[in-house]
Amino acid sequence: MIGVSVLGSTGSIGRSTLDVLARHPDRYRVVALSANSDVEGMYRQCLAHRPLLAAMADEASVEALARRLAETAPDIRVMSGDEGLRAVATHPEADQVMAAIVGAAGLVPVLAAVEAGKRILLANKEALVVAGGLFMDAVRRHGVTVLPIDSEHNAVFQCMPAGYEDGLDARGVRRILLTASGGPFRTLPVEGLATVTPEQACAHPNWDMGRKISVDSATMMNKGLEVIEAHWLFGAAPERIQVVIHPQSVIHSMVEYVDGSVLAQLGNPDMRTPIAHALAWPERMESGVGSLDLFEVARLDFEQPDLTRFPCLGLAFRAIEEGGSMPAILNAANEVAVAAFLAGCCGFMDIPRVIEQTMNSLQGQAADSLEVLLEADARARETAERLLGQGVR
Ligand code: NAD
Ligand code: MG
Repeated sequence: MIGVSVLGSTGSIGRSTLDVLARHPDRYRVVALSANSDVEGMYRQCLAHRPLLAAMADEASVEALARRLAETAPDIRVMSGDEGLRAVATHPEADQVMAAIVGAAGLVPVLAAVEAGKRILLANKEALVVAGGLFMDAVRRHGVTVLPIDSEHNAVFQCMPAGYEDGLDARGVRRILLTASGGPFRTLPVEGLATVTPEQACAHPNWDMGRKISVDSATMMNKGLEVIEAHWLFGAAPERIQVVIHPQSVIHSMVEYVDGSVLAQLGNPDMRTPIAHALAWPERMESGVGSLDLFEVARLDFEQPDLTRFPCLGLAFRAIEEGGSMPAILNAANEVAVAAFLAGCCGFMDIPRVIEQTMNSLQGQAADSLEVLLEADARARETAERLLGQGVR
């Protein structure tokens, strides 16, 4: 039996992970779950999957969960806060850890899982954006396997040659073609972007996801974060990563070789495919996802990304080129701006304004320790909050 811990189990990726695991009870055992404050969701997951441990990051939610479990499942241990997240990430019975917390909040727990030698199933792209260099160093030092869950990176991983870790040139790889749906506002007149609502931004045409990543998809910051993620995962310089708008979301990404070959991974847009791929790797197993109906798809379209419509994509390229702590600054400012937009406190086009002004007003530093990066994250959050308080512009 393979033991699996799920960080962020009540979210979109967490639920899809438990769905796949429940299809293979003979092979996998759910060891530990964590959530932030969704007590009801965690309670139901505890009854359905019977983990050994359940952790609530939000201290105020722990009591409520413990009270409910006391009657129905008193054997499940309940923990809270950072200590609880660490215990889920490093549980001795867990062989694999699904990192599916949203945002930089997932960084410290996933690093703990790396240090504990677990196989890492990485959905939490923000962890790599904030601390990609330190993360990959820790991965090499502890000899752990990281399997990307982000559909694009999972596709790239599937199309990469053996030994790509030795360098892309050494293995004949020319470019990574990272596909993007373009989100819900790809064809909206640009003047209309200023007045879009959170509900419109969260109505993604192809994927059903958490609210933060849905807004990131609408601004295309998601693709910017994914360029940084691909840079770290595959050792690819930013100029070797081409973003390709592909509205059907059927090709999940591609790898181009020096001989002109382009390998693609295709499938229905359902995260259970990359999740099952990573859980079973190097084997394959059923995920619950049906066959791709190419006659239904009928056509595949491709477009250049439009950087005036999507300034966030350009900001992400700028952050990775500046390097050091600048990607952490970009990410933190984005998290603050997206939360403000979702709360109705700023407009959609204020998101890139807040990020750009935060990047302009802070100095990037060498990313040589976690402390430096967490400090950059905190300063960027303060700066972005202040800009929002002043009404941006
Ligand atoms: P979500 O908002 O649906 O779920 C987030 C989970 O993290 C929840 O369980 C929540 O309780 C927990 N959480 C939130 N804040 C926390 C905190 N401060 N401390 C501890 N736990 C916290 O998000 P999601 O859509 O499942 O995305 C999760 C991650 O996966 C993100 O990094 C996202 O970019 C990435 N991802 C998601 C998808 C998708 O289809 N949803 C696809 C690719 C990558
Ligand atoms: Mg993705």
